[in-house]
Amino acid sequence: MADTSSLDALIQALRRLPGVGQKSAQRMAFHLLQHDRAGAQLLSQALAQAAGNVRHCRRCHTFTEGELCEVCQDATRDVTRLCVVETPADQAAMERTGAFKGLYFVLMGRLSPLDGVGPRDIGMQELLARAESEGVQEVILATSFTAEGEATAHALSELLARRGVRTTRLARGVPVGSELEYVDLGTIAHALADRR
Ligand SMILES: [Zn+2]
Repeated sequence: MADTSSLDALIQALRRLPGVGQKSAQRMAFHLLQHDRAGAQLLSQALAQAAGNVRHCRRCHTFTEGELCEVCQDATRDVTRLCVVETPADQAAMERTGAFKGLYFVLMGRLSPLDGVGPRDIGMQELLARAESEGVQEVILATSFTAEGEATAHALSELLARRGVRTTRLARGVPVGSELEYVDLGTIAHALADRR
């Protein structure tokens, strides 16, 4: 077995990716080793670099290589509007619509008591503190339209209301049960425009 241990290690590592089982991991490994050694090198370098350099923005928690992400550094953004999303992928989707000019707060998850994810894990206190201290007039709750995303939006709206901060929710039109990241940009832009 010693002669195949590197191959096994590669297959096991690829299986860590979401949605990748034994068969697809094996297919990917064989493809890289058989047809694309240069690609394999590129992939390994890019992975090492990203894993070493990418961190969370101090202000909004999305991915960045610096202290602050590009959006947080942009002085032209509207600081009175704060959009709350679940993941950096959702933030990127919202950003691609070009319809939102405010700032973000990325929860890095959603409330999920069954999985042991509580308010502390998604930075709720930091969000509340930020909403209170930075002159935020509207918090747009753009968590997913899943049961957990809805529960998270509901909990946040109550906590923010107690602090006198107005909240809005993306309008329906975003299909029930969907993650923002997978919704087409036009639909997100409409849901943003029709928020209430
Ligand atoms: Zn940021």
